[in-house]
Amino acid sequence: MKRPTDRGVTLECNAGGFDDAVLGTCFNGRDPGDRPKVLVQANDASDVVAAIRRARRDNLKVGICSGGHSWMQNHLRDGGMLIDMSRLNRIEVDTERRLAYAGPGCWSVDLDKRLKKDKLFFPIAHAVDVCLGGYLLQGGFGWNSRVLGLACENVVGIDVVTADGELIHASESENADLFWAARGSGPGFFGVVVRYHLKVHPRPKVTGIAMQIFRMKHLEEVFAWADRIGPEVPRSVEFQLLLTRKATGIFVPGIEIIAPVLAHSWKQAREDVSFLTRGPMKSKASLRVPLIPVSTSLLSHMAAKRIFPPRMRWSVDNMWSDAPMERLLPGIRKIADTLPPMPSHVLMLSWHPPAKRQDMAFSIEGRNYLALYGEWKHESDDAKYANWATEHMREMSPLSVGIQLADENLGRRPARFMTDTNMARLDAIRAKYDPDGRFHAWRGRIDRAS
Ligand SMILES: Cc1cc2nc3c(=O)[nH]c(=O)nc-3n(C[C@H](O)[C@H](O)[C@H](O)COP(=O)(O)OP(=O)(O)OC[C@H]3O[C@@H](n4cnc5c(N)ncnc54)[C@H](O)[C@@H]3O)c2cc1C
Repeated sequence: MKRPTDRGVTLECNAGGFDDAVLGTCFNGRDPGDRPKVLVQANDASDVVAAIRRARRDNLKVGICSGGHSWMQNHLRDGGMLIDMSRLNRIEVDTERRLAYAGPGCWSVDLDKRLKKDKLFFPIAHAVDVCLGGYLLQGGFGWNSRVLGLACENVVGIDVVTADGELIHASESENADLFWAARGSGPGFFGVVVRYHLKVHPRPKVTGIAMQIFRMKHLEEVFAWADRIGPEVPRSVEFQLLLTRKATGIFVPGIEIIAPVLAHSWKQAREDVSFLTRGPMKSKASLRVPLIPVSTSLLSHMAAKRIFPPRMRWSVDNMWSDAPMERLLPGIRKIADTLPPMPSHVLMLSWHPPAKRQDMAFSIEGRNYLALYGEWKHESDDAKYANWATEHMREMSPLSVGIQLADENLGRRPARFMTDTNMARLDAIRAKYDPDGRFHAWRGRIDRAS
């Protein structure tokens, strides 16, 4: 993606450059064919207020995008208005109060770099150009989120333009119901966030990564071991298993055990990743990378280059699971055996959520997170790869407790992403703030566990 440098304009659908401007909002290179009637490239909050007032007057439904990283291209709908928030990307930092104020179009890496100047930190996404707009609404699984909480738990306030075209503030003490909804409703949120108020933290002194690489024949042993030790892995470590057809260093299908760690000293970081070197799998690894220093920005840039290159065609899906590993393994083996070529990949995150979270719309997570990312370059390969992630996740859905909205695929496979109680509460809040259904909701949803 590119940071916008031009001044935003409003384009009607018959204007020259309309299609390019609309498709330019998407990270996913696929064109679903849907087009809004009008595109508003907002420059500030007053543009958003004016846009919503026009949408009310002309009875247009509204879609919103900030960084356009929704894999489903959730903001591309037929007809109505699309508001592009990417130009609202300013960052201000109040070091004394440990607060940052950032626009929804702010890139993850830009917030990270700005905070670094003041030795501060926020659990940003693992990708350079994912924007705060969509990231914070859906939850936000970021760097050090196992320690600092979901990124949305570090949001202390939002400035929102409502369906009435009013700019209001929402926090624990003001419009608290809207604030509750904004933390977890993701692409179903019913307002336009123009600014986030964020709690920021002291920056961990050390960021490092340790890895072990295994051939695919060890899949069952590696996953069983990872599941066994998952609960003991220190929360400073994001314990991930990545399946690719060209594993790092061995260039054949394999499993990468990746252990990024954020700590306050090298001694602690070494101790925290020592479970890797003590593990019984160590001798079976084809490659072992000891703990090396690397910044969160560099890690994000490396991931962008290797597994998240731009202008690819994507189809992704996911599930949270508390099922025993032996029940998951047959499905994971099938996924590994059918894995499309690089940069397609599979992630298993040993997540182990805390016993309690803040009271907010976000409400489903599990012990393990499994996400499938199918990516390919040419339209002619759509038929070959477009259903890979969806079909495997459909098959394994009896083992799932729900899905994560970060990697949602609701248009193709509606699934549950919130508890029934929270969904009912969210519907009531939506009816209060958006009684006419001005804003698009999720593309598909299943309310209750079947
Ligand atoms: C390469 C890549 C890496 C990723 N890495 C991570 C990760 O590490 N952790 C993680 O948790 N997620 C990750 N994600 C998922 C990502 O957080 C979501 O796709 C998120 O929605 C992206 O936000 P965005 O603003 O860039 O996308 P958009 O597509 O612009 O936003 C998604 C949806 O959010 C809503 N929305 C966006 N902006 C606003 C606004 N200002 N006001 C109201 N509603 C709005 C709209 O409904 C929109 O359709 C990743 C995605 C990609 C493509």
